[in-house]
Amino acid sequence: MTSPASAPADAAAPSEVLKPDFSAPRRHFIFQDHHDELRESIRRFVVKELAPHAEEWEETTFPDSVFTRMGELGLLGLSYPESYGGQGGDYISNIVLAEEMTHADSGGLAMGVAVHTDMATPPIHLFGTEEQKQRYLVPAIRGERISCLGITEPDAGSDVAGIKTRAVRDGDDWVINGSKTYITNGVRADFIVLVAKTDADAGYDGFTLFLIDKETPGFIVENKLEKLGMHASDTALLAFSDVRVPHDAILGEIGKGFYHIMWELQGERLIGAAGSVAGAQRCFDKTLAYAKERQAFGRSIGRFQVIRHKFAEMATKIESARQMVYTTAWRFMNGEYPVREISIAKLHASRIAVEVADECIQIHGGAGYMKEYGVERVWRDMRLNRIGAGTDEIMLDVIGRSYGL
Ligand SMILES: Cc1cc2nc3c(=O)[nH]c(=O)nc-3n(C[C@H](O)[C@H](O)[C@H](O)COP(=O)(O)OP(=O)(O)OC[C@H]3O[C@@H](n4cnc5c(N)ncnc54)[C@H](O)[C@@H]3O)c2cc1C
Repeated sequence: MTSPASAPADAAAPSEVLKPDFSAPRRHFIFQDHHDELRESIRRFVVKELAPHAEEWEETTFPDSVFTRMGELGLLGLSYPESYGGQGGDYISNIVLAEEMTHADSGGLAMGVAVHTDMATPPIHLFGTEEQKQRYLVPAIRGERISCLGITEPDAGSDVAGIKTRAVRDGDDWVINGSKTYITNGVRADFIVLVAKTDADAGYDGFTLFLIDKETPGFIVENKLEKLGMHASDTALLAFSDVRVPHDAILGEIGKGFYHIMWELQGERLIGAAGSVAGAQRCFDKTLAYAKERQAFGRSIGRFQVIRHKFAEMATKIESARQMVYTTAWRFMNGEYPVREISIAKLHASRIAVEVADECIQIHGGAGYMKEYGVERVWRDMRLNRIGAGTDEIMLDVIGRSYGL
């Protein structure tokens, strides 16, 4: 009897036998030709104009001119209507952007851009008045006004309903007091989409979103925060001290801010998941090249079974997360609100990205610990994804509760 392990080699192979073609181009069904063209043009831009500055921007944070340049290229409004300066594309175009930004080799840069394109501006597009869209969305798409999103506070992150920033009605105005922390783009932003409490007794119906210009008196950037990774991005502690805004600064419906922000978080999580998978894939690819080159005991390290199996494990993790992200993105694009699947995709993609980056460091040996090879940076950058946009624990809770538990 032929053993299963030797069967393929022993079998008489007729000339027409099908052979696996491991390098054949494979396109997932969610993508079409125009997505491939978009991918190629973004890749060219990212590799030529962003990646060469990755090291420098780790020290200095990336310049605001990245936004204006991406605005010129139409990359900040891929899925927004042409009437607002967008490209009129679909949601999958945003996934392509998130994936291709990983070729800049700078998690902080990718995050700063994603906060602008997929976190702060979507609520303006969905809930904003025409005047708000003209004032904030149009210049944001052009890259002339940079946005940030303020949910987290020093005393409330996971517990969004526990935020303390208050907005109190005063005649025709609202007066805002409080603080927000860990705010990406908070130092450089021209305006913020802010979640504030407008009715302390109304529970989840007591929150409202506001659009606030940075130059409004009382809007203070208290501190630029130092962090483990994502160094190319800026992260701020913001304070609001008697910030007076007119009634038309309200974004969406009064009292519906909690639900508006829960909607926003779905897109944020999906884009983060897409970035996690693409980042893991990029780290895998670089490490594969290294494993084929690096010699030990007279052979390339990739020829050791233990290393080969590490790649097999990583590929399996990446592919499973990718399928989840793509299928869920397709459902989201087609009008579904698949909160459970988005949470699963976000949880799984963030976890496997950290596991893959960690294993890539291991495969690099000492080189993996050195800055020069860039793998340690991927690990530091990716580590955020298990915390930001909802921690692993919160994702598990959302998933568990979705079963009525
Ligand atoms: C670099 C960076 C950039 C960020 N950018 C932004 C931004 O632009 N805008 C913004 O608003 N926020 C931003 N955040 C904040 C981020 O979303 C929060 O840090 C995150 O939601 C967790 O909140 P927290 O830090 O307050 O942790 P906490 O809520 O204090 O959680 C601490 C721990 O307790 C666990 N925990 C809490 N509640 C539960 C529960 N019910 N069940 C089980 N475990 C629980 C958490 O999972 C975690 O392990 C950013 C954070 C970082 C680090």
